[in-house]
Amino acid sequence: MSTETQVHNRIHEAIADIRDELVALSLEMHADPELAMSEHRAVQRLTGALAAHGFEVQSGVGSLPTAFIGRAGMRGAKPRIAILMEYDALPGVGHACGHNLIATAGLGGALAARAGLGDALSGELLAVGTPGEEGAGGKVIMVEEGAFEGVDAAMMFHPGTHTWLVRHATASMHITMKFYGKAAHAAGSPEQGRNALNALIHTFVMIDGLRQHMPETARIHGIVTNGGAAPNIVPEYAEGAFLVRALTQDATQDLWQRVKACAEGAAAASGVRVEFEVGKTYAERKNNRVLANLFGKYLSETGETIEEPVLRGGTGSSDIGNVSLVLPAIHPYVAIAPDGVAGHSREFAEASRSERGQEAMLHVAESLAHAAADLFLHPELVEQAWESFRTTGADLPR
Ligand SMILES: [Zn+2]
Ligand SMILES: [Zn+2]
Repeated sequence: MSTETQVHNRIHEAIADIRDELVALSLEMHADPELAMSEHRAVQRLTGALAAHGFEVQSGVGSLPTAFIGRAGMRGAKPRIAILMEYDALPGVGHACGHNLIATAGLGGALAARAGLGDALSGELLAVGTPGEEGAGGKVIMVEEGAFEGVDAAMMFHPGTHTWLVRHATASMHITMKFYGKAAHAAGSPEQGRNALNALIHTFVMIDGLRQHMPETARIHGIVTNGGAAPNIVPEYAEGAFLVRALTQDATQDLWQRVKACAEGAAAASGVRVEFEVGKTYAERKNNRVLANLFGKYLSETGETIEEPVLRGGTGSSDIGNVSLVLPAIHPYVAIAPDGVAGHSREFAEASRSERGQEAMLHVAESLAHAAADLFLHPELVEQAWESFRTTGADLPR
């Protein structure tokens, strides 16, 4: 039997060996949701499993305490293939984005790839924990701080309602707006007050006006996070959180300038001051076709039906975009819920702990492992992935 056949057979066996452990872990994380950048127990679970299965684990990467890297193979040797994990949940709705499945699919992929490759692990296999995808931009920070330097491929998956190897994603920016007014008795001396909440309300109204004159692909949405202290006090402080999204990082910056003008105009009209906290910009996504097809080959062998990609329509944003602009990366989707179930909904949270969710997670774990193994066994695939990276741009909706 060839080494290659042995490796792939061993990967299949390894997944069978760890499937109960992966399912249990994903259900544990689902029942114990942690918010962006506070995923301490998830990190303990994942790094514990990596260490128990022979990975050398670094907990905390750069400035991020809940990022981690598990290493196998020869330190610094090429190729360096990374399998990525996410594990943050959402406020109120828990694992409504299914990151518990992303975590255990990535974990299982890394464990099975290492077990399958054995001595044939010619480079370095990285199991990378990326925190705070929901708003905090963990991967953006990791890219900025050099965590992906020297890495040749980054692979992960996201649960969804379709099975797509490639998909576009809008760029996005998180903005916090802080309005500072002047408190006064709201009935006794309102003329002495300057109403910060009014400025925030006017900002929402002006953004709704702006919506008529922005590209269809753009999105602006926000919430009030502080609307004052009591109805009998003129609000001296109001705060809103917004997301501004457009096709590309540049288009997002342009749209943000227009949103900013809305807030500044509203603040001026209300006689209050406004400050902005500008979060990380999530980039548009460049899907590496060489890696996507490699992953897809193995995914279809697990019995998953891969649909033709649809590069139009509403999408979210992800910080994998920033990774995908600096090295070959994939972020395929595998359906765990029927079409029509919204991401970030309670229904999707249910799907993320369903039997179908577990089945998809295990299929992905195995496919990630086979794909990673091929990249070590066939260095020309890594070259092809880089060639594709150099010669193609981001996937923008048509
Ligand atoms: Zn999400
Ligand atoms: Zn997500």
